[in-house]
Amino acid sequence: MTVVLRSPQEFKQWRRQQKGSSVGFVPTMGALHSGHEELLKRARQENDLVVLSIFVNPTQFNDPKDFEKYPLTWDQDLKMAETNKVDAIFYPRYPEMYPDNYRYKVTEGEYSKLLDGAHRPGHFDGVLSVVMKLFNIVAPTKAYFGEKDFQQMTLIKGMVESFFMDLEIVPVATVREEDGLAKSSRNTRLNSEERAKAPAIYKAIRESKSAEEAANSLNQQGFKVDYVTDIDNRRYVAAFLGEVRLIDNVQI
Ligand code: AMP
Repeated sequence: MTVVLRSPQEFKQWRRQQKGSSVGFVPTMGALHSGHEELLKRARQENDLVVLSIFVNPTQFNDPKDFEKYPLTWDQDLKMAETNKVDAIFYPRYPEMYPDNYRYKVTEGEYSKLLDGAHRPGHFDGVLSVVMKLFNIVAPTKAYFGEKDFQQMTLIKGMVESFFMDLEIVPVATVREEDGLAKSSRNTRLNSEERAKAPAIYKAIRESKSAEEAANSLNQQGFKVDYVTDIDNRRYVAAFLGEVRLIDNVQI
């Protein structure tokens, strides 16, 4: 049975009762798809208990329209949690997650300013702050993050090391559609024409000889490219297709 806990206090009480069990934690913003499911499966294999959190975190949205349009699919999410034998869902509300109304935040000063950080001011402050809160509430043994958001996963790993936090970060490979498009909750916002075009992102970063060539190719195909950048053997892309901003990355 999957229990749903809505406040940090309620969750911590549940967690105290599980003393001695290992906990695998999968933080998400809901609208779950098979990418999230892969994280849940890994957590199920490697831990006594699995905790899923669902929280559309307002502090990481630099664009209020993106926040308002973020899909909510609670009934489906609950079903996926039950199918994957999730023990507890932490599903908090904003005022309880931010009792200080976001006066306190976690900031990284270098890598978080590049790539998505350069295009989404404050985004990673919001991500790191909410993830630190979630780790303190959930007290996981291991936490699972997708390589789809490689910069995010790397920054969280760095935060855990820098603050001597007592858990392991487990990266999970990007889950893709058959045509190569990285699974994302935002894909549901693409119209059919955009959806048909979207796999070009993955193709461009894999097949182009340089980041510049990939950016030019995408712009020519009607994307509005934020960046294509190579860092440490990895190529990162963010591009708009209509109103939807898609990101991806590959090893090069
Ligand atoms: P989100 O709810 O989109 O913020 O994502 C929650 C977690 O799922 C993050 O660790 C993401 O990196 C991960 N995730 C999202 N999409 C995918 C995917 N296609 N493959 C693997 N992990 C993913």
